[in-house]
Formats: sequence, structure tokens, C-alpha cells
Amino acid sequence: MPQPCTNPPLAEGQHPALEILARRLDKLRRQGLERRLVSIGPANGPYVTVQGRRLLLMASNDYLGLSRHPRLTAAAARAAQELGSGTGASRLVSGSQDGHLELEAAVARHKGTEAALVLATGYMTNLAAVAGLAGPGDLVVSDALNHASIIDACRLSRAEVKVYPHGDAAQARRLLAQGGEDRLKLLVTDGVFSMDGDLAPLPELWRAARQEGALLIVDDAHATGVYGATGRGSLEHFGMEPAPGLVLVGTFSKALGCQGGFVAGAREVISTLVHRARSLLYTTAPPPAQVAACRESLEVVREEGWRRERLWQLCAHFRRGLQEMGLTVLSEQGPIIPLLVGDAGRAWELAQALRRQGVFAPAMRPPTVPAGTSRIRFTVSAAHRQEDLDLALAALGRALREVAS
Ligand SMILES: *Cc1c(COP(=O)(O)O)cnc(C)c1O
Repeated sequence: MPQPCTNPPLAEGQHPALEILARRLDKLRRQGLERRLVSIGPANGPYVTVQGRRLLLMASNDYLGLSRHPRLTAAAARAAQELGSGTGASRLVSGSQDGHLELEAAVARHKGTEAALVLATGYMTNLAAVAGLAGPGDLVVSDALNHASIIDACRLSRAEVKVYPHGDAAQARRLLAQGGEDRLKLLVTDGVFSMDGDLAPLPELWRAARQEGALLIVDDAHATGVYGATGRGSLEHFGMEPAPGLVLVGTFSKALGCQGGFVAGAREVISTLVHRARSLLYTTAPPPAQVAACRESLEVVREEGWRRERLWQLCAHFRRGLQEMGLTVLSEQGPIIPLLVGDAGRAWELAQALRRQGVFAPAMRPPTVPAGTSRIRFTVSAAHRQEDLDLALAALGRALREVAS
């Protein structure tokens, strides 16, 4: 029998450690950096219910509206029923299921690489790709606006890390050149940047990486399924082919509507990760339902190209509307449409006003974005209709007037 806890309950704020935490939380609130987990009801198309009110969701990265696709949900349900709800251990401990291996073969075919590896989340995939390849004595050169999972991966690698100004391929090359010869060098970038929605200059970065003998890792979390004529991502957008020195990272969690991540690349890269990636070795393998849905999503993305076309039409429509309101946004194309506000508190106020006007779009504030660049990050999805976006534009107009008065 477990023994009941006999500690007397603490009166609120009486534990010294909790008092320290309470003071820190207070400070965040005063700085306009409070965060809350809001509960949202089940989605009905692009609408969600928040505190009893129906709001248009412009916050999700489910760009193609696949997360409720009947083929994906059916594949997940079938796999759970046939194979169970969990896998029981890491793949290195209790083996890979056919589903894992088939999914990896499908990713490699889709990306045109020799091999691929699937991980439980995109976050863990970046930990694997960067910290699994580079270690002490190696060099990682990283864009200043790379995703937090890349920043964390750089730290975990214990390699020397050099950060170049956002999108500056010439500076990236100089930093790689200072690295000397004979050590492993990685150049790592988001393909599409998650908070700004802009593209990395991949052709220039790839040239720099080749010249300096570095591997180029491209994290295509936001480009997979969205960019390129067949949705293969930012490389396809630039007309680039897979090559031995290119390492492609992506997620199933955004446009593909599932959960998980993948690394695709040369056999040496993938084998190294199987030996060294701690986010593969020390975590339980993704469950059958997840793997089956991911597998299905690759097929659906290939077969339903109309979703991508529709998404791009809707993005253009929303951008035109913003332009007609005299507003400029940070990105020129694609479904990530950030409206710069600047001050964190003001961005928060605008997000609240938008909610009162029926639109759910998040205020992105430090540390997610650099200080002074807080913004509303709108995302457009193929699940939206043009009327929904018109409604969002009208709501934004009212919300802006509300916060200005
Ligand atoms: C979302 C995101 C990730 C993390 O992916 P998850 O599957 O959500 O863990 C990694 N990189 C970038 C650029 C992202 O935007």
C-alpha cells in the first residue's frame, strides 16, 4: 500500500522556492510576458470554441487542413486496434516495427535521399540532427533566427557554435572558413522561418557549405507539404536537388497534420544518428497510430495537390486584404503572415482585442521572438474559406481601432 503523504499542507507562498517562482512570474506579468494555456473546444472546420465563443482559428500550422482528414484518422485508428497503443521501449531496445521502417523508406523516396530516420517530434528531430552529428571539437554555424529546437540542439551538442545574422550567407561562409580544416562542420538553418515566414537563401547557403566542406542541415518544418510544386519543401521551391552533403529535417506535425519528425540524407548521416542521437536512443518509439497516420499523410499530400493550390490562393487573398488596409507584414509569401507590433504588451492587447472580435491569432513575444519585435502571427490554412479571411480582415480593422482608442 502506498503511504499517504504526511507533510502538512503548506499555506500558499510559504515555501521559499515557491516564493522565488511567484516573484519571477510576477515580473513576467509586469513585462507583458504572461502566458496562459487557454482551453479550446473541438474544431468545426477552421472555427474553435474558446470560453463559449466561436472564434476563427488563425493560429494553427495545420496548413493543408489534414489533421482531421478521414484517411489519416482511419489509418491511426486501424493501427492502434491492430498493433496497440504503445511500443513499449526505444527502437534500439525492443526493435523497430515494420511501420517505422516503411515510413522511413517512404520519407527517403519522397525526399530523394539514400536513407531517413523518423523521431517522435520535430523538436527531438533537431536535437538528433544537430547534437547527434556534431560533438565537442566540431563546429556548428547557425542562423540567428533559427527555431528554439535548433538553438537547444546546438547547446546540447557541446560543439563550438557560431551564429550569423539572419539570412546572411556570406557571413555564414566566413564563419565556416574560420573553423579550420579537418573538423566536422555543420551549417544549419530553418528552410522557412517559423516566426518571420521568410525563406532562407538556400542556394547561397548550399554553395557556402560545399565550398567549406560543411554539411547543410535544412529544417523544413514549415515548408514540408507547402512549398514546391509537389510540396517537397524549400529545396523544391528553389529547384535544388538532394545531394550527399544536404541533410533534410522536417515535421509531420504541421502541414502533414500528424505528429513526429524526420531526418533524410546520406547513409553515413542516418547511421551516425542511430549510434549517437540521444533523442532516438533514450525515448520510446512512436506508437503505431502516429506512424500509420504519418505514412498516410505522405500519400495524401501527393494525391491532393489541390489543397496546396487552394492554400496559396488564400494566402494571396489575405495579403491583398492587409495591403488594402495599408498594413505591411514581415513575409512576402506563404501561410505565415506576421504583423509586426513591436512592444510585447501592445501585441498582447491586440491579440486580446482580436479575440473579442472573433479571431484567434497569437501574440508572439520574447523569448520566442527578439525583444522589440513582438507581433501577431496569422497563419492561413486550406481549411479556411475566402469568406473566413474577409471576416478576419474586418475583425483586425476593428481590433486595431479598439487598441488605438
Ligand atoms: C515546429 C517546429 C519544430 C518542432 O516540430 P514539432 O514537431 O512541433 O516538435 C522544429 N523546427 C521548426 C522550424 C519548427 O517551426
